[in-house]
Amino acid sequence: MGRLRTMPQAAAVAMAVLVVVIASVATAVLAHGHGKASANNGSGVIGGASGGTGGNGSGGGKGSDGGGTGAGSTGPSGTPTSHIPTVAAVPDTIVHAPEAAGKAVNITIDDGPDPVWTPKVLHVLKQYGVHATFCMIGPQAKAHPDLVRAVVAAGHRLCDHTVSHDESMDHKPFAYQEKEIMDAYAMIEEASGGAPVQYYRAPGGAFTPASRALAAQHGMRPLGWNVDTKDYTKPGVGTIVQTIKYELSNGPTILFHDGGGDREQTVDALEQILPWLKEQGYAFSFPKVN
Ligand SMILES: [Zn+2]
Repeated sequence: MGRLRTMPQAAAVAMAVLVVVIASVATAVLAHGHGKASANNGSGVIGGASGGTGGNGSGGGKGSDGGGTGAGSTGPSGTPTSHIPTVAAVPDTIVHAPEAAGKAVNITIDDGPDPVWTPKVLHVLKQYGVHATFCMIGPQAKAHPDLVRAVVAAGHRLCDHTVSHDESMDHKPFAYQEKEIMDAYAMIEEASGGAPVQYYRAPGGAFTPASRALAAQHGMRPLGWNVDTKDYTKPGVGTIVQTIKYELSNGPTILFHDGGGDREQTVDALEQILPWLKEQGYAFSFPKVN
C-alpha cells in the first residue's frame, strides 16, 4: 500500500512542477507578444501618422524633441531589456540623411506589414530596383511573418514603429514608451527570423530624448522624415506625386504608408514617382544608421 501511495505522490509532484513551468512559459510568451496585440488592427489610428509635425525638414520630431538636431544626451541610464540580444549602440539623434553620398532619397514605408498592400508595394519597388525602409507595427509583423521575411529577403530594411501606434506616447511615462518600443522590436525581430531592426520611428514623430536613447542603445537609429506624402489621406495619386516634387527640397527622406487602409493611391504614386526620381538623377539609399 505504501508503495502504491508514494508512486502517485511522486507523479503528482512531477505534474505540479510541470504545470508551474508551463504556466510561467505561457505567461512569458503572453507578456512578450500579446501586450496590445489587438490595439492596432484597425485603420483609424494609423491614418494620422505624421499629423502635427512640422513640414519643413523637421519631420520625425515634434514638440520639445523636434528636428533631431539636439545632442540627445538626456537618455535613461541604459538598462538593457533582458530578452533582447545585445547589439551595438547607434547615435540617438533623429536621422534624415542618406547613407549614399551625392543625390539620393530614402524611401520609407510605414504602418505595415499588410497582407494586401505590402506585396503590391514590394512589387513596385522591385520593378524599379528600389530598396526601402519598412517601419512596422509589432503585432502586424507578428501576424504576418511571411511578409516581414519577404521584405528582408528583397533587401529592404526594418524599422520599429511600436506596438500600438500611439501618437501621444511622448506624453506618457517612460515605462510605457519602453514597452511600446521594445515589445515591437521583439515581435519584428522574431517575425523576421533574426534580421536586424535598424531604425526606430515614433508614431507621428512622438519621440522623446529618453525613447531615442533607448532605441539607440538597441541599435535602432531614430528615423525622421522630410517629405510627408500624406498618402494616408487619399488625396489622389496626382496630389501625392506633386507633394513629393514640391517638398523634395525639404530633404531626402520620403514617407509613404503600406498599412492603415486602402493604399492603392500609394502604390500608383510609387509607380509614377520612382521612375521620375531616377530621371532626376536620384539614387535610392537607406537612412544613415551610424
Ligand atoms: Zn505610422
